[in-house]
Amino acid sequence: MEFLTRSEAETEALGTALGRKLRPGTVIAYYGDLGAGKTAFTRGLARGLGITDRITSPTYTIVNEYPGELPLFHFDMYRLESSDDLFDIGWEDYLARGGVIAVEWSERVEDALEGALVIDIRKHPENMDVRTITIEGGAEYADLSL
Ligand code: ADP
Ligand code: MG
Repeated sequence: MEFLTRSEAETEALGTALGRKLRPGTVIAYYGDLGAGKTAFTRGLARGLGITDRITSPTYTIVNEYPGELPLFHFDMYRLESSDDLFDIGWEDYLARGGVIAVEWSERVEDALEGALVIDIRKHPENMDVRTITIEGGAEYADLSL
């Protein structure tokens, strides 16, 4: 599925629409450059999950946890070398907790994310407020709309 968003608010809204439908144990693998909108999308996602906490980038902490009916574990793998480093951060334990896991810089640990819902966010080459957001691997979200 491919979506076009024209503002940060629209990207958040798409995240919210998806967040409302997510099942326990869903792992999301984001692709997209710095500033693409991965954290913005996750902010919306959290809202859709019913989480009201402020969502901030986990760049320095690797993971931020947000409690909820379905808890959200928001990872930023930027500082990891490879999936070998996942053991040290307790990745398996997070998987076992049955929440929703959203992973920024998922390319760092790609081999550990097989079967994840892939969300690719691309900046428009000419318009700095436009993003193309592609969601793959989630046939159950086919009716998703902005
Ligand atoms: P990332 O987590 O991918 O590095 P952020 O979500 O932190 O990116 O930042 C996205 C930046 O791009 C914000 O400054 C936001 O205002 C801006 N922006 C402009 N247009 C959009 C859009 N359509 N969707 C998301 N963010 C946008
Ligand atoms: Mg980010």
